[in-house]
Amino acid sequence: MILDAFSLKGKVAIVTGSNTGLGQGICRAYVEAGAKVVGVSRRPSTETAEMLGDENFYNVIADLSSCDVIPTVVEETIKRFGRVDILVNNAGIIKRQDSIEFSEENWDSVINVNLKTVFFLTQAVAKQFLTQGSGGKIINIASMLSYQGGIRVPSYTASKSAIRGITMTLANEWAKYGINVNGIAPGYMATSNTQQLRQDEERSADILARIPAGRWGTPADLEGAAVFLASAASDYVNGFTLAVDGGWLGR
Ligand code: NAP
Repeated sequence: MILDAFSLKGKVAIVTGSNTGLGQGICRAYVEAGAKVVGVSRRPSTETAEMLGDENFYNVIADLSSCDVIPTVVEETIKRFGRVDILVNNAGIIKRQDSIEFSEENWDSVINVNLKTVFFLTQAVAKQFLTQGSGGKIINIASMLSYQGGIRVPSYTASKSAIRGITMTLANEWAKYGINVNGIAPGYMATSNTQQLRQDEERSADILARIPAGRWGTPADLEGAAVFLASAASDYVNGFTLAVDGGWLGR
């Protein structure tokens, strides 16, 4: 049955940024699809744990602004659930400031969380995939700014454009091991990431007017793509970043 190809039964996923927003939605969808999930978060993922139950969800508290936490994330996952099959690099931050004044701190903090740690966590998990010998799925959460320039967010655009780039690089190198590396580019979603933007009446109205679907997205809108790219249904999809954007990029 085709729907069986979308099942995540018996799979173990690591999802970063599991306490809120898009990451919390992905954790929920994966458990519903049959997976066990290790959520990585800076603040405790209390709400996510209550929603999903201790038998399905385990929270590793880690600050992903440094690569030092990477061995712990992988070791804790293996200790709790015995293996790892899926990694979703979802945790991310954005800093808004005019490019003419953009600070080094706003550059480094975004690049560290959104790009550097993503690369080295992915590398560590891919090594675990190779040890296990049964392939795996990597899903990088990209952005419309993997395709477009944006305004006042140079480090975010740099990080998300690079994410789309390395998604292709890693797919090129690892497809032969049965490791699928793909991305999801969410459009404008109503989460804390876009709170500031949604509070700016003018920008908010401009954005909404340009979305063909006529509304901001929600975490639930991302879940189908996240399950697809984590499942056997996407075994021949490599290095592609799928937009889930209510039509934004097509405008
Ligand atoms: P969000 O609600 O702000 O969630 C971001 C998540 O990342 C939170 O769980 C946050 O934890 C975590 N995080 C940030 N810095 C971290 C760190 N140093 N260590 C560990 N975790 C950290 O935003 P979201 O919209 O769900 O964003 C999820 C992803 O989607 C991000 O990569 C974002 O760039 C991307 N995205 C979002 C949109 C959108 O419109 N919302 C569009 C395109 C792409 P804390 O709560 O503890 O900070």
